[in-house]
Parts: sequence; C-alpha cells; structure tokens
Amino acid sequence: MSAEVETSLRAPKAYDLARQAIAAMEAHKVWPTALNFELWCHYVTAKDSELAVEIDQMLEAGEPFTDAVGETLAARFLPKQKLSGELLDAGEALSKELDSVSRAIEIARESSEAYGQELANAKESLAGEDTGQIKAMVESLTQATQRVREENETLEGQLADTTAEMGRLRENLEQARREAMTDGLTSLANRKAFDEALQRACAHADATGETLSLAVLDIDHFKAFNDTWGHQTGDQVLRYVASVIGRAGNSLRTAARYGGEEFALVFPGESAREALVILEDIRVEVASRVLKRRSTNEDLGAVTLSAGLAERQAGEAPAALVERADTALYASKRGGRNRTSAADPIAAAA
Ligand code: C2E
Repeated sequence: MSAEVETSLRAPKAYDLARQAIAAMEAHKVWPTALNFELWCHYVTAKDSELAVEIDQMLEAGEPFTDAVGETLAARFLPKQKLSGELLDAGEALSKELDSVSRAIEIARESSEAYGQELANAKESLAGEDTGQIKAMVESLTQATQRVREENETLEGQLADTTAEMGRLRENLEQARREAMTDGLTSLANRKAFDEALQRACAHADATGETLSLAVLDIDHFKAFNDTWGHQTGDQVLRYVASVIGRAGNSLRTAARYGGEEFALVFPGESAREALVILEDIRVEVASRVLKRRSTNEDLGAVTLSAGLAERQAGEAPAALVERADTALYASKRGGRNRTSAADPIAAAA
C-alpha cells in the first residue's frame, strides 16, 4: 500500500478495527467474506467474549477457519432471529456500516494497486533514458498521484462518517444487549444472563480446576402475600429482596432473578461453605426487615427466604448443578422454610 493511502487510513477508529480484523484474518488465512469480516470484527473488539475464546481455542488446536466454521459461529454467536427489534435494527445498520468500510478499503486497495502499476511503468520507462519518455512518464506519475490523493481524501471523509456512525450503533447495541440481559422489575441479571454466567463459570472451573457454588433462593409463601396485598406490593417486595441479593453480587458473582419469586447466585471460585456465609447474611437481613405498605403505611410483616446451595462436582453440567441446588431448596421448604440447605453434606454440616 502506498504511503499516502496508508496515511489517509491511519486515524479513524473504524479503520483501526477493520485493519485489526483484516490483519487477524490474513494471519489465520480466513477467506474475506462479509460474514467472516463481521465475526472477526467481534473477535478483535471483545477478546474475552465467548466467540473470541472459541476462535482462540480453534486456532490453538490448529483447526482451519473455513467458511463453514464461520457460518456455524455466526449462527451461534450472531443469532439475529433471537434479538430484539431494536438490537436487530442496530445490528443490521452496523453490518451496513461494516460493508461500507469494506468497500472503502477495497477502493483504497485498488487505487494503491493502480498507483503501484504506474510506478512500475515509470521505472521501465526510465530505463530507456529517452527525454520524451521521461517527460511523459513524469506527467503520467503526477496525474496518478493526484488521482490517488483525491480518492484518499474521499475515503478519509467516508471513514470519518462511518466511525461516528459505528460508535453510535455500537453504543445502541451495547445498551440493547444490557437490556436484553437485565430483569426489568429488579434490575438483576435475567434468566438468560444467568444461564450464560453459569455456563461461563462452569467452563472456567473446568479450565482452572477452581471450585464453584450455586444458590437458588425463593421467597416463602409469596403467592399468599400477593393474594393478600396485591401485585403492586408484591412487585415491591420482589424489588426489596432483589436489592438485598444484588448487594452480594460483584464482578465475579452473578445475582439473578431466576423466575417469578426465585433468585439465584453464582459463586465462581467459592466453596459451598463460603457461599453459605453470604446466603445466611441475606436470609437474616430479609427476615429481620418489617416492610410497609407504601399506600397506607400498614405493616406488611417480614418476608422470609428459603435457599438451596450446591457446590459443583468436577465436570458437572450446569443443568445438573441447578437441579441439585433446587433439590436442596425444596429440602429447605420441607424443613420449615426460612432456612438454607446444602446439597453437599460437608457444607450442610458447616
Ligand atoms: P424504592 O422505593 O425505589 O427505594 C430505593 C431505595 O431508596 C431503597 O432501597 C432505600 O435504600 C431507599 N428508600 C426508599 N424509601 C425509603 C424510606 O422510606 N426509608 C428509608 N430509610 N429508605 C428508603 P431498598 O431498601 O433496598 O429497597 C429497594 C426497593 O424495595 C424499593 O425501591 C421498594 O420498591 C422496595 N421496598 C423496600 N422496602 C419496602 C417497604 O417497606 N415497602 C414496600 N412496599 N416496598 C419496599
């Protein structure tokens, strides 16, 4: 690529992204289809995403990145049919922007190839040492340089527009992605986010040999509470319980609303014994708070929680871990509620 083309492409972030994606594709001999380009743009922007981790594992295993592989990954990680309307619109617009960046890069590549050809012709003409030929060659070179400069200016303008548009679209996508993973009532992670977090935590535990615990918590007699005080008050109680459980969440632990009045906490790297301490704090805090009906200031009494806890066994599937935590939860319910039971006998003894 000529120095002028290179300079004109340097600044915009969109080009940086496209350039990194293309460099990675080139390095791994990935055929430059629009789909592959989109996947590799995801790869270079989110190096710790599930998609990137999967690509890295493939590359480490020496598997070739064929078009079929690209299509399978796109079907799994870019599942448009599952996205909300807003996300879909933003995704389509983003992919148009990516197409436009690809086209702009293609124009630059063609220009620089043509320019390179002009230079090669000039070099040949110079060998002739004919004054007329040299003059014609200088003329032709000047025109070619001018053409490349003009095309680069156009390209620079296009890329700057595209960068701004892509930034906006990426923000929309990020916002829509966050909303798609959040429970609207409680602002905790939703079921989908929980499933993904647990899957990730299990994969991490498999890779590192670290322990991992899971708790499921359920508000006792919530249906009766709803029937007595109404759904609006019921919703506020859900928000209250969620706020207490949410405070136990952090960058590692995921606190989620698992279903109607059921919540879950994923504890990566923590044993059932450690998780039990956190769960007991939550249970005691919730049970000790006397709630008020906002409209009348009546005492609603306290709500209580039953919890089930399971520490992951080596290689255990996420669904099996959930099932064991659920069984422990039902043991708490059967045992009189307002308690935590552990599937693991050592933690139960603790
Ligand atoms: P919210 O009503 O939006 O309140 C958000 C936070 O503001 C509460 O978090 C609390 O820190 C504070 N706050 C609101 N009202 C009061 C108040 O009258 N006195 C005090 N000291 N602080 C107040 P928190 O406690 O984690 O509650 C989260 C959500 O749970 C609340 O959202 C509300 O929807 C529900 N909630 C909490 N306590 C009650 C209650 O006693 N009755 C009802 N109906 N809902 C409650």
